[in-house]
Amino acid sequence: MEDCIFCRIAQGEMDAKILYSDEEVVAFQDINPQAPVHFLVIPRKHLHSAFQLGEEDQHLLYKIFHVIREISREKGIDQEGVRILTNVAPGAGQSVFHLHFHALGGRRMLWPPG
Ligand code: AMP
Repeated sequence: MEDCIFCRIAQGEMDAKILYSDEEVVAFQDINPQAPVHFLVIPRKHLHSAFQLGEEDQHLLYKIFHVIREISREKGIDQEGVRILTNVAPGAGQSVFHLHFHALGGRRMLWPPG
């Protein structure tokens, strides 16, 4: 989608600190990190949110979680704990309308979240 900033990052048209990229998914540093480690993993396919996932996207979900695990290992946070989340709709905090999973670590996570 032309006016989607995450599509533009995936297509290399907008700068981001890319951590991983292949034909299906892209991972990059969050521009406004909320923890010492905070990165995002997105499908290249434009989906508005997790609620647009279809049965045909099962592999994509596996892939996204696999990439999160591998980057978490590389960053040395996989053992101590990683908060993985996706916001659906503005009321939950979604501000970019291209499906993305946050992965946060490197500090103690609180529950409940704000
Ligand atoms: P959400 O509010 O759950 O939709 O998350 C959107 C996330 O995208 C926020 O954590 C932002 O800091 C992050 N973000 C927005 N624009 C960019 C960008 N150009 N590069 C990297 N991260 C971004």
